[in-house]
Amino acid sequence: MIRKKDGIHIYRDSHLVLDSRSSKGKTNFVSHAHSDHSPRKGGEVVCSNLTAEILRKRFNTDIQPADQPNIQLLESGHILGSSAALIDGEVLYTGDVSTRNRAYLDGFKPVKAEELVIESTYGIPAYTFPEQIQIEKQIQDWIEDTSGTVFLFAYSLGKAQKIQYLVEEVAERPIYAHSAVIEMNNVIEEHTDLSFRAEDMENQDLENSIVIVPSHLSRSDKIRRLVDRYSVKKAGFSGWAVKNSYNYRGGYDKTFPFSDHCDFNELVELVESVDPEKVYTHHGFDEAFASYLRKEKGFNARALKNNQTSLTEF
Ligand SMILES: [Zn+2]
Repeated sequence: MIRKKDGIHIYRDSHLVLDSRSSKGKTNFVSHAHSDHSPRKGGEVVCSNLTAEILRKRFNTDIQPADQPNIQLLESGHILGSSAALIDGEVLYTGDVSTRNRAYLDGFKPVKAEELVIESTYGIPAYTFPEQIQIEKQIQDWIEDTSGTVFLFAYSLGKAQKIQYLVEEVAERPIYAHSAVIEMNNVIEEHTDLSFRAEDMENQDLENSIVIVPSHLSRSDKIRRLVDRYSVKKAGFSGWAVKNSYNYRGGYDKTFPFSDHCDFNELVELVESVDPEKVYTHHGFDEAFASYLRKEKGFNARALKNNQTSLTEF
């Protein structure tokens, strides 16, 4: 039995809770350290060592990675440390997932499973991204062609580091970053071979520099003042950028459809590779994606809705 409330609950021999901020089961799994998935209390959770390190740093908890032989962790290609979970060799839970190689990160390699619980953020055909190599080239070309001060708005954990990696390859200008990004750079540098050039933007002369800023601050007063002062060009990075409305919302001069999630076609390919008997979709275009899988691909698929219980029958 599978249920969605605060996180995904799976009832097999025991109660397993996946990516919940507050619920606790007998076993608890955290796929990655983004805040919408992260437990606020400490204790033992099944997660990768890097996810545990980042969680401890971000949320000041005493999370400890637990050993759970029934759960196999598979790198999910979303951010560093992110994992999918293969439960009892039968149920595959993707967490947030990307199958494409990006910057320094390899995409998820699907495995066979009888049941699949898959995120469906971009589960409609409108969200089809260009080839990654093309997106990354466009970002680097734009950096080289845009003079003056540029602000690059990206989620502080994951996206911000990938963007820095691409920018460092081509930019000779100084690179600065917001303290929230620097903090995440530091954790990642401590636990991987990656290193980043950016220095803290606080009290710096930002003239003719590249600045990495957390995306949620794109409309904050402090950032707006800096944007005016330095006549900043602003760029945003997200899968939502395939739609023009994303530019308007963030007030960006330029956007790139650089995503840490699968696009629609990659989601379909992922399901076909896993070849499950049952598919449960959640998040984003969950209903539309399940409906597509049923009608066009013949899968037994349905969306997991809040507080609705899915027994074995569909
Ligand atoms: Zn995420």
